[in-house]
Order: sequence, then structure tokens, then C-alpha cells
Amino acid sequence: MRLVLLGPPGAGKGTQTERLVARYNIVPLSTGDMLRAAVAAENAIGKKVKDTISRGDLVPDEMVVSLIAQAIDAPEAKNGFILDGFPRTVKQAEALDRLLKDRGLKLDAVIELKVDEAALLARIEKRVAEHKAKGHAVRSDDDPSVLRQRIANYRKETAPLSDYYQQTGALLPIDGMQPMDKVEAEIEKALQKRVAA
Ligand code: AMP
Repeated sequence: MRLVLLGPPGAGKGTQTERLVARYNIVPLSTGDMLRAAVAAENAIGKKVKDTISRGDLVPDEMVVSLIAQAIDAPEAKNGFILDGFPRTVKQAEALDRLLKDRGLKLDAVIELKVDEAALLARIEKRVAEHKAKGHAVRSDDDPSVLRQRIANYRKETAPLSDYYQQTGALLPIDGMQPMDKVEAEIEKALQKRVAA
């Protein structure tokens, strides 16, 4: 199974990714996680992207495309993958299409979690509070002003991917405002229908 999960920050992509990974025995590929690991490792990529990430802006397309190309070619991704946080721009989506075509692969579906923007800030604040209560580290970009920037970038750069994948026929829109289990069940139903078709 090869999937893309689209949705703004706070839409619940992380939770649904975990569940899809377990159900289909596929690997999660999150460009955000890869970039945060590079920042933590203080390697060349990390040094280049640190400030961009903390502002809530997008890093250059070529950089994430090359990270994803490597990840897709890794043996662990042979059984399939779920892309979380990639593609984020139409250019990245086009690059992904080429990348998959060159390898004779195809996306099974692009799941879009649709959420009410007004609810996003509240959701992230809840996530931050929960992480803090558990003594976990909090992401530097989970701050209200940076979050507003991330949502604005989503609206401008990433929301157009909904039309892009509608045109390719891959899009599965899901109401992400429902409880997590209900969202999971709807994704499952839509995927089964897709696979059967
Ligand atoms: P995320 O964990 O997906 O919310 O990503 C955290 C941050 O990493 C984003 O706000 C961007 O600065 C950067 N980032 C992650 N994925 C991408 C991508 N596909 N294109 C550009 N920037 C990205």
C-alpha cells in the first residue's frame, strides 16, 4: 500500500499514520521527522533548515524530494509507505509523480483529512499540554504564532494539492473533525472501496 496523508497541522495526521502503519505493515515517511532528526544531529541539512523550521516556513523542494527519494528506495519501504507531510507543494507532488513513475510504482490513495481551521489552534494547544504533562519534549514550532504561519503556508502552498489529486483520481477526502476512531474507520472503509475497485 502506498499512501499520502494530507492535512494541515493539528489535523491528526500523526495518529492516523500510526494506525495505518500498523494495519498495512508499511513504513511512515515523515519529512518533518527527517528534518527534525537532521537538526538534532546538527548535520549539513540540519544546519541549513533549522531557522526555516522554527519560523514555520517550508524548506526548499529539492531538499525534501531527495530525502523522500532515498527513503522510498530503502528496503524497509518495499512493502509500501505512508507519506506524512510530503508533498507540501504542487512542485513536490509533480516530483513525487516522476519519482514513482521511474520506479514503476503508483499511489494507491491520497487521504485528505479535512478540518475546521478554527479548531486547529485549540488542538495543537491540547497536544502541547499533553506532551508537557507527560514530560515529553515540545516541538519548537508548536507555538501559536509559528502555528499561524504553518497554517497560512498550508492554505497557500499545500491546499492546492487537493485539486491536484482530485484530478488524478487518487483523492479520498475524510472528515477529520470526528473522533479519532471514527476517522480511522472511515479511512479504512474508503481504502477498502478503493482497493476493491
Ligand atoms: P511537519 O512535522 O510535517 O509539521 O513539518 C515540520 C516543518 O518541517 C515544516 O513546518 C517545514 O518547515 C518543514 N517541512 C516538513 N516537510 C516539508 C516539506 N514536504 N516541504 C517543505 N518543508 C517541510
